Amino acid sequence: MSVAGFVFPPPPQPALAVRGTTARFPVRRIYCIGRNYLAHIREMGEADERDPPIFFQKPADALVEEGATLPYPGSTSDFQYEAELVVAIGRSGQDIEPADALAHVFGYAIGLDMTRRDLQRAAAKAGHPWENGKSFDHSAPCSGIIPVSLCGHPAQGKLRLSVNGQARQQTDLSQLIWRVPEIIANLSRLYRLMPGDLIYTGTPDGVGPLQPGDRIEAAIEGLGTFGIDVGPSVNPGAI
Ligand code: MN
Repeated sequence: MSVAGFVFPPPPQPALAVRGTTARFPVRRIYCIGRNYLAHIREMGEADERDPPIFFQKPADALVEEGATLPYPGSTSDFQYEAELVVAIGRSGQDIEPADALAHVFGYAIGLDMTRRDLQRAAAKAGHPWENGKSFDHSAPCSGIIPVSLCGHPAQGKLRLSVNGQARQQTDLSQLIWRVPEIIANLSRLYRLMPGDLIYTGTPDGVGPLQPGDRIEAAIEGLGTFGIDVGPSVNPGAI
């Protein structure tokens, strides 16, 4: 069946649920921040502690919503979780001043920056881009978005992650090296931020590997919880 104006049907618009409404948040780009908690920089042991945080991206169709299963990806034997506060942008801007930054935020969510750590480490060692380790299919699970009208702007509060009920990550949002206003200001000097952009703000220490069948639960004080199950390997021979 043909679709007017296209040689094949266009892909669906990636989107997330929004608490308090049936309308959905259409996702445009997914920006991520690396090295934004000192304890995680130390556990990774690769970067100079004084190096500033960095930005990378994931494709918007890498989103996985609550209720879906997270496939264990191929080409890795070290699939890892990273719990992160996610900022959802609702107003466009470029060269945004930190003092004005929060006015561009629509809401917040709980995200998982899923990582093929073996591929990420190999790329970093070779001086290659991170995409194979970070920007793969299903690499961006995310909760529904909580609008600022319901949660304010969380600048402190516990962030936690457990696997099969065992605590693995715990920090406080006050430990972010770049806080949300600085993140938006710095990112908006590199890219014009637009409504629908998500920003994964970085993970604390305690990252680690998953196995098929694991249950991940992440929580951020003031935002609630986000849980997801790891499904079977898409490439069983690789584990
Ligand atoms: Mn991360």
